[in-house]
Amino acid sequence: MSSGPSLQHYENEKAKKVAIVGAGLVGALNACFFAKRGFQVEVYEARKDIRTAKDVRGRSINLALSYRGRQALKAVGMEDQVVFKGIPMNARMIHSLSGRKSSLPYGKKGQYILSVDRANLNRELLNAASEYPNVKLNFEEKLQHYSLEKGSLTFIRPEGSFEVSHDLVVGCDGAFSTVRRQFMRQPRFDYSHVYIPHGYKELTMPPRNGDFAMEPNFLHIWPRNTFMMIALPNLDKSFTCTLFMPFEDFEKLTTGDEVLQFFKKYFPDSIPLIGIESLKQDYFRLPAQAMISVKCSTYHIGAKCVLMGDAAHAVVPFYGQGMNAGFEDCIVFDELMDQLHNDLSKCLPEFTRLRVPDDHAIGDLAMYNYVEMRERVNSKWFIFRKYVDTFLHFCMPKTIVPLYTMVTFSRIRYHEVIKQHKWQCKVINSILFVMGVSATITGAVLLFHYLPKSPHLLVLQNWNYSFK
Ligand code: FAD
Repeated sequence: MSSGPSLQHYENEKAKKVAIVGAGLVGALNACFFAKRGFQVEVYEARKDIRTAKDVRGRSINLALSYRGRQALKAVGMEDQVVFKGIPMNARMIHSLSGRKSSLPYGKKGQYILSVDRANLNRELLNAASEYPNVKLNFEEKLQHYSLEKGSLTFIRPEGSFEVSHDLVVGCDGAFSTVRRQFMRQPRFDYSHVYIPHGYKELTMPPRNGDFAMEPNFLHIWPRNTFMMIALPNLDKSFTCTLFMPFEDFEKLTTGDEVLQFFKKYFPDSIPLIGIESLKQDYFRLPAQAMISVKCSTYHIGAKCVLMGDAAHAVVPFYGQGMNAGFEDCIVFDELMDQLHNDLSKCLPEFTRLRVPDDHAIGDLAMYNYVEMRERVNSKWFIFRKYVDTFLHFCMPKTIVPLYTMVTFSRIRYHEVIKQHKWQCKVINSILFVMGVSATITGAVLLFHYLPKSPHLLVLQNWNYSFK
C-alpha cells in the first residue's frame, strides 16, 4: 500500500480531474492508483465493457505476470486475488525434435512466474476501479483528437462526438496511441517503431481426460532456431500454444494438410495433444498477428499529459514484460507522487527521466530474448552457462544475479540490469577462462608426470628414435 497522502489529500482543495484514455490493463490499474490518491478519475475506453461484452478476444489469451507487475497490484491491494487465479510456472520445459523434454528452472526454488488470463485480469482491474466513488468508467468512447492548445479531448461515441477537458491526461491507449499523436507535434520528441519479421498465431491444446495434457507448472517451449512454439497453462486445464514464425513461413502453409505436415516435421509431440482436426482448423481461424516495438521520448508534456504502458513503450512479448513494465510505470509514478507531494509539474518530468532509459532497456532485452528462446536454449553451452550462473548466484547471491532473475524477480531498474549483466558476464567469462587454462595446465602436467609409465610413451619414444 502507498504510504503517501490518501483520498484525504484533495479534501481541502478542488480534486484534480484526470482523464485516463484506454481501459486496458494499464489504464484500469492506473484508475485505481489515481483514485486512491483522491483525483476525480474519468476513464475513456473505445471498446465495449469487457465485463459484459460477449466476444472479448483481443491479443494473447494469457500472460506471464511477474514481480514488477505483482508489486504494482499489491500497492492497490489486488495482488492476492490475481495470484489466486494464476498458475505458477517454475521452469521452462524444452521440447526437443525427438520429443525429449528437459526443464530449465527460472530462478531459485520457490521463484516462479504466473500464467494469468488477460481478459479476467482486465475485468478484475475494472471492477476494482469501479469500486472507488471518484472513478467513472466510460465505454465505447473513442478518443479522436487531443488538443493541447485548447486542453480538450474529443471523443466519438455511437450517439456522436463530444469534448471534455481535464487537469491531467494519462495516455494508456496502447501501441497505436491517439494521445501520443499530440506528442509528435512537440519539438525534440523522438519516436521510432519496428515491426519484427515474425508474426504469431494462437492454438488451443484442450484438457485430456479432465486434466492438463502436459505438465502444468511450466512454460513449454519448442525452440526451432528460426521459429518456436510456446504453451502457457490456463485455469480450465487447457494450454494456449503460440506459434511465433516469420510471416513468409506462415504464408507457405495454405492448407490443413500442409499445416499437419509442418507440425509432423517440427512439433510432432504436440499433434496428439492439440488434435489433428483442431490443428488444421485453428491454424486458419485468424491471420498471423504482427508484433511491434515502440520507443519514444519524452513521456510527458508539461504538467498536462503523460504516456504509460504500451502507449509509451510497446515491446515484443518474448521477455513476458510488456504488461509488467506498464504496471511498473504506474507504481513508479505513484511513488514519485509521494516523494514530490503530488506536484504534477515535478512528477511528470521526473517520470520521463526515470522511465525512458528503463523502458528502452526492456525493449532491447525483449528483442534479445527472442533469440534466446527460439535458438540459444538449444545450445549446450547456453545451458551450461545457465547452471554456472545459478551456482554462482547460490554462492554469492548479492554479487552474481542471473539476467532473467534481475528482470523477472526484482525491481532493479531495467537499464541497471543490462549494466550489471554485462559486468557479470565479463567476470564469469574471466573465471571460466582461468579455470579452463588451469585445467589445461593441470592436465598437461599430469600427462607429463604419468607419461613415462605409459605404453604410449614407448611408442612415442620409439617413434622418436626411429626419426633420429
Ligand atoms: P493495451 O492492452 O493495448 O490497452 C489499450 C486500451 O486502450 C485498449 O483497451 C484499447 O481499446 C484502448 N484504446 C486504444 N485507442 C483508444 C482510443 N483512441 N480511445 C479510447 N480507448 C482506446 N506482457 C507481459 O507482461 N507478459 C506476457 O506474458 C505478455 N505476453 C504477450 C503476448 C503477446 C502475444 C502480446 C502481443 C503481448 C504480450 N504482452 C505480455 C504485452 C502486453 O499484452 C501489453 O504490454 C499490455 O497489454 C499493455 O497494456 P496497455 O494497457 O498499455 O495497452
